[in-house]
Amino acid sequence: MTVIHKMYIDGRWTNGASTKIRSILNPATEEVMGMVGDGVIEDAEAAIKAARRAFDSGEWPETPVEKRRDYLRKLADLLEASADEFARLETLNTGKPLRESELDVADAVAAFRYFADLACKKITVETISREDGTTSVITREPVGVCAQIVPWNFPLLMAAWKLAPALAAGNTCVFKPSELTPLTAIKLFSLIDQVGFPPGVVNLLLGDGNHVGSVLAESPLVDKIAFTGGTKTGRSVMRAAAGNMKNISLELGGKSPLVIFEDVDVETAVDTALYAMYFNQGQVCVAGSRAIVHAPLYDEFTRRFAERAQQITIGNGLVAETEMGPLISKQQLERTEQYVAIGLKEGARLLCGGKRAPGHEEGYYFLPTAFTDVTLDMRIAQEEIFGPILVIQKFEDEAEAIRLANGTAFGLAAGVLSEDRERAERVARRLRAGMIWINSYHTPYVDAPWGGYKQSGIGRELGIHGLEAYLEIKHTNIKDKPESIGWFAAR
Ligand code: NDP
Repeated sequence: MTVIHKMYIDGRWTNGASTKIRSILNPATEEVMGMVGDGVIEDAEAAIKAARRAFDSGEWPETPVEKRRDYLRKLADLLEASADEFARLETLNTGKPLRESELDVADAVAAFRYFADLACKKITVETISREDGTTSVITREPVGVCAQIVPWNFPLLMAAWKLAPALAAGNTCVFKPSELTPLTAIKLFSLIDQVGFPPGVVNLLLGDGNHVGSVLAESPLVDKIAFTGGTKTGRSVMRAAAGNMKNISLELGGKSPLVIFEDVDVETAVDTALYAMYFNQGQVCVAGSRAIVHAPLYDEFTRRFAERAQQITIGNGLVAETEMGPLISKQQLERTEQYVAIGLKEGARLLCGGKRAPGHEEGYYFLPTAFTDVTLDMRIAQEEIFGPILVIQKFEDEAEAIRLANGTAFGLAAGVLSEDRERAERVARRLRAGMIWINSYHTPYVDAPWGGYKQSGIGRELGIHGLEAYLEIKHTNIKDKPESIGWFAAR
């Protein structure tokens, strides 16, 4: 019998208000690998109401932070104990190589533990004794009902990055995964159920973004919206959230540059550029999708890059040798193909790839692709493709590297490769991006902020800033007893 996965609302599994069912595909085989109940507007409203009730009249916001830590630590322990199952399921649903899913699960466990402990250390009370005889007490309180919407590229990890700080801070949550990749989130909620969070504290809403996601963004009963996804959708979420002036966190798209100076060994430069670009098939918000290469290294770099890109082993993520899996969906595959056509039409030169991977009848496989002869005004240099397409540009001097690197509407991340540490840091200071890796790329650190400048978003996840995003700050000024102030004379 086919299992139809349900939503989790108010502490119970539910089919929701409709009988609609959605098939979930394995992008490596295009086979149906699961069926889920499809949420509708009524389900979004039910989840919001449950979270509202749990916040306004439930015990969670008042629960001592140490007790909230224990819930989250238990969740982390359970997740860690079934890490292999989660990693396999993530690979089946997203297509990403198993070694990447394993990293995601480990990082998700770390996030639950980190925020559980951080909340205990940082949700503190500050007092200021004043000469006027009053005391100022500064406290941190949860924001309220948080709606959290995540995309399909890191389904479990994004769930952890959103839920961990929100719950540690005492908020209640309505969490919505992407309609394409809900399976590890559903499995996570079976652990949440096992841990026994009070009803309504953490709710799972399924369904497509345009329908249920937009209800979350609009609802006046929601206090905060945290969204990760494309800039276009982020803009519509922001507009919808303006109705009741929600607290908002947006982690959006990017077109991140990797600036490579001539003093770097060419093999190291190519190796880093491949990793920055093709990790998770290029479907990463921080993907290093523009290689900006110093002129003396350019010819050798492009030659070796093309050779190495063609050696990447493409296949089903469950196969141990696989280095790159399929794209998430037919839509993303077609979108990637369209960008190849756009690049060619714009006059860029195809260095490698540019088509579906041969030898794969099923699955959304695309070859690692790169363009040279790219100018900054081209769409392939400006728009987030979210597939395995690198654009390579040449620079003559530092000023030109900085101009090219900063020359898009995005500002999420950037990389600088150079043996000259002083130069790398000087360039990094000039880059308008929220995250810079010098001589490295990609790694998120749970205790360091994650987020972008410009149209790459608003606010930060991870680290203390990620916790603060889920806290309000209250100043209470206290005088021992009421006394006349005498500002206006009593007559
Ligand atoms: P979206 O940004 O549209 O989707 C991200 C999340 O938002 C999903 O959970 C989606 O739900 C939900 N959503 C969609 N529409 C709305 C809405 N109106 N209100 C509230 N939530 C909504 O990404 P797509 O999957 O459509 O991908 C399109 C492009 O976005 C990609 O090609 C890429 O360029 C970019 N993108 C960027 C990401 C990043 O991390 N920077 C991540 C994903 C995409 P559902 O999937 O169920 O419809």
